[in-house]
Amino acid sequence: MSKDFKPMSGREFPRFSAIKTFFRLPIAEMTENFDVAIFGVPYDGGVSYRPGARFAPTQIRDASSLGRGFHMTRAMSLFENLKVADIGDCPTVPIDQAQTYEKIEKFATSVLNTKKKFIAVGGDHSTTLPLLRAVRKHVGQPLQFIHFDAHLDTYPAAWGCEYHHGSFARHAIEEGLVDPKNMLQIGIRGPLAGSDDLKLVTKHHVQVRTMDDIREKPIQEFIKTLPEFNGSTYLSFDIDCLDPAYAPGTGTPVPGGMTTYEVQRILRALKIKNLVAADIVEVSPPFDTSQITSLAAVDTLFELLCLMGEKKD
Ligand code: MN
Ligand code: MN
Repeated sequence: MSKDFKPMSGREFPRFSAIKTFFRLPIAEMTENFDVAIFGVPYDGGVSYRPGARFAPTQIRDASSLGRGFHMTRAMSLFENLKVADIGDCPTVPIDQAQTYEKIEKFATSVLNTKKKFIAVGGDHSTTLPLLRAVRKHVGQPLQFIHFDAHLDTYPAAWGCEYHHGSFARHAIEEGLVDPKNMLQIGIRGPLAGSDDLKLVTKHHVQVRTMDDIREKPIQEFIKTLPEFNGSTYLSFDIDCLDPAYAPGTGTPVPGGMTTYEVQRILRALKIKNLVAADIVEVSPPFDTSQITSLAAVDTLFELLCLMGEKKD
């Protein structure tokens, strides 16, 4: 495979052929000379309901064969602006979360030490916490944080376990990994377990944009209300921010969510000066139909790469 860090051409090799990598990009060692590393985090030991997200990296690699590099709205050739490679999967221990967290943090730290940005493809949402720990240490201050989700993920311990996919955002705030005043949650909707569920985000003045906020006006009006992110920023994308009609293959689906197009409009409108790292989580291929969810993840991956590769004014 060539190392110009361009996707393999679909006109030379049909898109259903060849070994599957993210966006048909070359496989590389993380020490090689490129800008953004994409890696899988095949772990779903933090889920509370449907499992299966451990299979997401493989399935999203497969679906990303259809990925193309020219962004029409931005008039931008992504892979001219940015050298991107697939560095494989982060090591995990499927039956031990503590060991998995250590491995994820160490792996992400190694990537950051090569002065690269990264996009992690999970995995359930519990995998975001060790990624945030690595990025927070690397940056040296609390991160600005954009969180797409149906859920707040600030929930209490479950079955006596602190670390699960519904508690990562609480730990991120409590550990000082993110700056809650520069934290935005998008796509949130109920039902919640109780009104107490909102206490943490209210106490820390997190900006929450519910589905009602998003749908109250036309999308072109809503996107004007988004804050700007001028510091080192992390974006975590839980696929269940989408309505189950647009992302059926996920662990804890919630009706009344965004369309894929609304997500595209929001991602294109975000003003992020320095998107250091991002993740896409909670795709569960065993519950997917016709790759609907994996394709939505691929599209989000493309938009996130464009946010990293866009020329800043
Ligand atoms: Mn989540
Ligand atoms: Mn969620």
